[in-house]
Amino acid sequence: MVVVGGGWAGLAAAVELTHAGIPVILIESARQLGGRARCVRFGELRVDNGQHILLGAYREWLGLLQRIGLEERQVVRRLPLELEMMGARDPGLHLHTPALPAPLHLLAGLLSARGLTLRERLAALRFGYRLARSRPSPEQDRSVATLLREHRQPARLIRLLWEPLCLAALNTPIEIASAHLFLQVLRESFRHRRQDSDLLLPVTDLGSALPEPALHYIERHGGQVWLNRRVSGLRLSGTRLEGVELGSEFLPSRQLVLAVNPVMCRRLLSPHAPFTDLVRGLVRLEYQPITTLYLRYPETVRLPRPMLGLLDGPGQWVFDRGLAGQPGLMAVVISAAGAHMAQDNEALGNAVGRQLAELFPHWPVAGERMVIREKRATFASQVGVEALRPGSATPVAGCWLAGDFTATGLPGTLEGAVLSGRACARGILRQQGGKSV
Ligand SMILES: Cc1cc2nc3c(=O)[nH]c(=O)nc-3n(C[C@H](O)[C@H](O)[C@H](O)COP(=O)(O)OP(=O)(O)OC[C@H]3O[C@@H](n4cnc5c(N)ncnc54)[C@H](O)[C@@H]3O)c2cc1C
Repeated sequence: MVVVGGGWAGLAAAVELTHAGIPVILIESARQLGGRARCVRFGELRVDNGQHILLGAYREWLGLLQRIGLEERQVVRRLPLELEMMGARDPGLHLHTPALPAPLHLLAGLLSARGLTLRERLAALRFGYRLARSRPSPEQDRSVATLLREHRQPARLIRLLWEPLCLAALNTPIEIASAHLFLQVLRESFRHRRQDSDLLLPVTDLGSALPEPALHYIERHGGQVWLNRRVSGLRLSGTRLEGVELGSEFLPSRQLVLAVNPVMCRRLLSPHAPFTDLVRGLVRLEYQPITTLYLRYPETVRLPRPMLGLLDGPGQWVFDRGLAGQPGLMAVVISAAGAHMAQDNEALGNAVGRQLAELFPHWPVAGERMVIREKRATFASQVGVEALRPGSATPVAGCWLAGDFTATGLPGTLEGAVLSGRACARGILRQQGGKSV
């Protein structure tokens, strides 16, 4: 069994197959595992290619952690949902969810939110109530901005709450973001259990959060991981898979999980006629960037809470990496495309430095800085995107697709990636005679 791609989707598939006793060869083109959620160097520190945040609703990821013998608290700190949005020119918003069953915790949180007028609170509650009763379908998709207009949400409430939530969850501006996917995320997070809306903030770098323990698990249980090896083509005979090509080498295999990014997936599938319809959808996928700035302050500098929302830009969220054992290090995240993409790293670093200085005038000037721009961080969760996403089974027997861009029903997230990898493993095992994972 071959798995191509050592991002979180490929790792999830490889771990589940290994767990079921199927020997796996995992092939990754980079020198390290993790893909778009990986560890990078910043001086002597191990940081991430982008600050990530997980949710209590990430059940597949939590299941995978258990599988490889990791406890949640070794990897993340679980915090009940608390949002503080700060701006130099706006009193901002503070929403805290009390210990009540879902969705009452959210309703009580909205009712007691500091910084919202009575009208804004009632509008948010009305929106929440209607959503809880609605049955969104991808066929009736429209933009999040349109949805919010339909529900007469006040402009300030959109700016303080819905827009930042949409950018964080979908990595897509509200004018083009899919209302269907946005509602899906809200329902996943707020409808079932109170813990689903918990924020899970990494206490380690992302490499230690899954890729490295997964590598050890796979190797310890008889699998192989090949790093720095690029798959250059698939070999088919009609609608049957024969194997994969790695330059001039050929690796025969009747079963394959292709867990690469959507652009590479398209490249590998497009020479083969059985994938024509599937490739037509992939060609139309668009992408959005995520930019992360690391700013290093003296170790005594701390945020009032582990994570804060920033109004007025360019930074949208700031995370205190003290939680990950890196006191004084701040990670500022900017989701989706915007004016910051036209600025060079120096100018953007200065602008974010000024933004933080306005909010925290007592902080000294940051020392070292690093800007990481992931240009294709996720597919754009735009209106109508669900019709473009492929399922995990393909018209070619033995060829399965995994990745955050497949039809998971979620936006491009770690949970979507893990879910897709595990779904492939389950499909393969079902075909092989009813073993379950
Ligand atoms: C900056 C940033 C911030 C993010 N923040 C969050 C967040 O807060 N919360 C959240 O849930 N999600 C977040 N995401 C999204 C999340 O990281 C992705 O959804 C997830 O990592 C995608 O995993 P994947 O396995 O589907 O794809 P990838 O990570 O892209 O994995 C594909 C792998 O295939 C390899 N590969 C490609 N071509 C070949 C080939 N020919 N041969 C062999 N190997 C190949 C690649 O090197 C890569 O390792 C963020 C993403 C970024 C970039």
